[in-house]
Formats: sequence, C-alpha cells, structure tokens
Amino acid sequence: MRVLVVEDEQRVAEALRTGLNAEGWAVDVLGDGHEALWQAEHTEYAAILLDIMLPGLNGYRVCARLRAAQNWTPIIMLTAKDGEYDEADALDAGADDYVTKPFSYVVLLARLRTAVRRRAVARPPLLHAGGLVLDPAQRTCSRAGQDITLTGKEFAVLELLARSKGQVVSKQQLLDGGWDFAAEPDANLVEVHVSSLRRKIDAPCGRRSIRTVRGYGYQLVPEGTADE
Ligand code: CA
Repeated sequence: MRVLVVEDEQRVAEALRTGLNAEGWAVDVLGDGHEALWQAEHTEYAAILLDIMLPGLNGYRVCARLRAAQNWTPIIMLTAKDGEYDEADALDAGADDYVTKPFSYVVLLARLRTAVRRRAVARPPLLHAGGLVLDPAQRTCSRAGQDITLTGKEFAVLELLARSKGQVVSKQQLLDGGWDFAAEPDANLVEVHVSSLRRKIDAPCGRRSIRTVRGYGYQLVPEGTADE
C-alpha cells in the first residue's frame, strides 16, 4: 500500500519514511502544502499522514480542499499539543483521525491500518481471495491453514490484487500502489514479483491463482485455475 507523508520537519519525515518502509509501505514524502494537494489529487493513496503547520498551504486547507473535491482518501492529521490548532479542528476539516506529536510509532501504525480498513464499507481485517487468507495488519498469508512467507513487496502486490475483488489490475496500478516514486520502478519489477508470488502461493499446491492478462496486467481468480 502507498502512503503520502506531508511533513516539513525533515527529521520527522525521514523517521516516518524509514519506519513505514520497514512495514512494507511505499512512502512518498512532501513538505509543502500545495505540492501535497496536487500529488494527492493525481495519485491514488491508501492514506495520507498530514502535518498541520506547512509551508504553502496548511494541513487543514489541504484536507478541506481534498474533501471539497470529493477525494475521500483516509487522512490522519499530525497535530502538536502546543499548537495554535487542536484535534477538533483536524476532524472538522474532514480528517479521519489524528495523532498528537510526539506520537507513539506503534499507535500511529495501528491508526493508519484502521483508517485504511475503514475507508469503504467492505474493508474487512482479513482478506479472502484466490483461496488465500491475507492479514494486512500482520502481513501474513496462508492457504488451507498453511502459512506462506512473503517479502514485503510480494505481500504488497498480492494485497492489491486481493483488494480488487477479481478485477484485472494493470501493471501500472500495481506499480503505483506498491512502489513510491523514489524507487523509479518499471514494469519488470511487477513481473518479477508476480513470478516469485506464483512460486510461493501456487506452485506447492499445483494451483494457478494469478491470471496474466497479456499486455495489461493480472487478476486473482477465485478457483486457482487461471489459463495463461
Ligand atoms: Ca510542520
């Protein structure tokens, strides 16, 4: 999943990037309100972590403008206890949640997962797709009770396929959802990860869960009988 971190304090921003990367998130970091608004309007994010005091445009304005434009990406505001504004203002501006700086990283991660899960009506804690069970909070995957060990990126690709509920997902969508722009990803990366996923989730039990749609992308099929 891909998250946008909007924070002009570089130390805080880099700590968030490092920590979230380690949890398998793709992280884009921006420090300016106007740039953040543009980026959020042009890229699909699973969530946005939004500081309030920002150069250009403050966090409340960024949040309010996104909501006014019918953009419902979950937003968690990063508020400061001694700030001019408070948590109620954050929620009034259309944020889904807030954490107060200095925040507990564990709490922030939990809030982030919750915000992503709540985004739509059908965001269950566990994803069932293609005969697999995925737990995004624990980043675990299993088939018929057998745990399957996946890397962070393999899990990210599989989660995006699982969340699309049987729809075909383009390679570009997988790149956009699984990699941040610092990674300079290309389509080969997606192919490499899909190949390794197939070796792990399908080969051991003779199934073919991930169908290739030539020249376009991939689809997670329910019965694991995909034809190439
Ligand atoms: Ca700030």
